[in-house]
Amino acid sequence: MTDQKMSATSTIEISGAGPAGLAAALAISAAGQHAVVYERSADVGHRFHGDFQGLENWTTREDVLAELATLGVKPNFQYTPVREFVCFGPGDTQRRFHASQPLFYLLRRGPNAGTLDHALKQQALAAGVEIRFNTRASRLPDGGIVTEGPHRADIIAVGYLFDTDMADGIYAAVADELAPSGYAYLLVDQGRGTLATCLFTDFHNEREYLDRCVAFFDKKVGLRMNNPRRFGGSGNFSLPRRARKNNILYAGEAAGFQDPLFGFGIRWALLSGAASGRALASGNPAQYEKFWKRRLRAYQQTATTNRWFYDRLGNRGYQLTLKRFPEHADTRAWVRHAYAPRLWKRIWYHLVASRRSAPLLNINTDCDCTWCRCARRSAPSS
Ligand SMILES: Cc1cc2nc3c(=O)[nH]c(=O)nc-3n(C[C@H](O)[C@H](O)[C@H](O)COP(=O)(O)OP(=O)(O)OC[C@H]3O[C@@H](n4cnc5c(N)ncnc54)[C@H](O)[C@@H]3O)c2cc1C
Repeated sequence: MTDQKMSATSTIEISGAGPAGLAAALAISAAGQHAVVYERSADVGHRFHGDFQGLENWTTREDVLAELATLGVKPNFQYTPVREFVCFGPGDTQRRFHASQPLFYLLRRGPNAGTLDHALKQQALAAGVEIRFNTRASRLPDGGIVTEGPHRADIIAVGYLFDTDMADGIYAAVADELAPSGYAYLLVDQGRGTLATCLFTDFHNEREYLDRCVAFFDKKVGLRMNNPRRFGGSGNFSLPRRARKNNILYAGEAAGFQDPLFGFGIRWALLSGAASGRALASGNPAQYEKFWKRRLRAYQQTATTNRWFYDRLGNRGYQLTLKRFPEHADTRAWVRHAYAPRLWKRIWYHLVASRRSAPLLNINTDCDCTWCRCARRSAPSS
């Protein structure tokens, strides 16, 4: 299909009703066109169960909620700005980090009221978007946008969500025995909690790492989990060469857009989704390639280089980094600096860091770990 024909199309199809797909649909509606979203599950947010996630607010000076407003996404979900957290390191290392502006916004994911997913669905329906649940899109013959989430696993996160009478608090932990090459976190807000370990390797041993995280946070902050529910999921962050194949645009994690350092994907899903919707609605899909190469590529290359170095830190490196973090530094400014695209980091990306390939692990048919379950689910059906 030519770009010209696309501009005459009044209905644009999208496969996947995650943040990327719904942001794309909102952009299409705002441009006066009709969006149909196919969602294979019975509702939005089926990968999640009310667990907390963070909407990162450090890659730009501008606040992420202001940026979302420019995409037509309203913050009508429940969120808590986070300006402070405690990070534990190996041994007894511990640091409290502060920021004058929110470092991230704590929000919940899943199908229920108050979550990001439910809020996006409500906004899309109010804008006239048609969402067809329980409908798997295998092909989009007339073109459209693919926002089906991860197609491979570079990272897995496993944990518990639970009710609790603990005081609100945001905690992270970095140690090889809790999350090799990754990190663990405990998020408590208004009687709800989420504890997880994010693994970038050794996925089959998730249960062992998770058990250690539970014991660790219990020792450090007196963990109290009532009605704990297990959750787990995978993510991918392989920067594509192109996010367009003829008249199909790929956005969100389906395109591999996600922060490779710590696995924050929501903001990039919303951004890339909205941009793909705008591009198709204006009949100019080539505009999308320009958008993500200008807005996302340099950040993702820089974060891939950061990950390359992080992979090599190990316990000694975590300990030194925590100890040497400047005493009165504003953490948001410091992290923004670390994420800011730099020429040397992009050169390092091309020469060294981009060669990081997806972990080569067996997929066992009888194994119930997150890696095996996600890999089996995302394998192409014959
Ligand atoms: C446990 C966990 C914790 C995370 N924590 C954070 C965090 O704290 N901060 C952060 O920024 N990011 C986090 N992420 C990553 C973030 O959740 C994702 O990057 C983000 O949801 C990607 O959005 P998306 O729209 O691209 O894909 P998804 O949210 O995966 O949505 C894709 C949708 O497409 C549907 N679908 C798939 N295939 C088809 C098909 N063929 N036809 C129709 N529908 C289909 C799926 O059912 C799904 O609803 C986390 C991820 C996990 C797993």
